[in-house]
Amino acid sequence: MSLDDAVIRFAGSGRILCGFDFDGTLSEIVTDAATATAILGATESLERLAGLDGVTVAVLSGRTHAELVERFDHPGLMLIGEHGYDRGEDEDSDGLTPLNGLIDTLQTLVARAPGSRLEIKSRSVVLHTRNVLGDIKEALAARAKAMVDDESDIAVMEGKEVVEFSVTGTDKGAALLDLAGEFGAERILYIGDDVTDEHAFAVLGENDLTIRVGPGETTAMYRVADPSAVPPIIERLIELRS
Ligand SMILES: [Mg+2]
Repeated sequence: MSLDDAVIRFAGSGRILCGFDFDGTLSEIVTDAATATAILGATESLERLAGLDGVTVAVLSGRTHAELVERFDHPGLMLIGEHGYDRGEDEDSDGLTPLNGLIDTLQTLVARAPGSRLEIKSRSVVLHTRNVLGDIKEALAARAKAMVDDESDIAVMEGKEVVEFSVTGTDKGAALLDLAGEFGAERILYIGDDVTDEHAFAVLGENDLTIRVGPGETTAMYRVADPSAVPPIIERLIELRS
């Protein structure tokens, strides 16, 4: 079945949930992650899709909820940060306590690796290696990963030039299923580009629709080349559901 036929089948009738990753999916990957913005047309298309009957639209990102609000401040969009944990509601300041020892060690590591950066969120800490030179980049990621042993309660996820350490038990798959339950969605669309998006692809079934953006091993049903292919899919859904 072509991707367009799959979109037609997915659009169907009844309640649907459309979930999107942000970086590398709705935005191009940029050197300075702070400057990433949605690609042209994406935000406006998402808002129109979210305005249709029986359609819930969610952006699920590793970023914090606050960072998503800066980029998509629209009441119709569900903005889910930190892979499902951060809906901008929870003020739990103790979330990081189990990570404190690790944060100290990581800070020492980062201080010795030019270009690396540590981002401390509410329930996780992320080592960014994008701007670290050549061979050191992988060695640094490996060093950091080795700091957490298998028995630990800390989960380690490696993404594109990031290593994320978290104390949450949630991931994008669990977050997506929770949302589908909340909104009574019969089918789920999910589009993403990275390792953490595979958690979402993995929990979806035959009636759902999963699309991977860009290269890399995937269990998604379809693949598109880059983020510029995403707004046309949203537009097609709008057309089919209008
Ligand atoms: Mg991404």
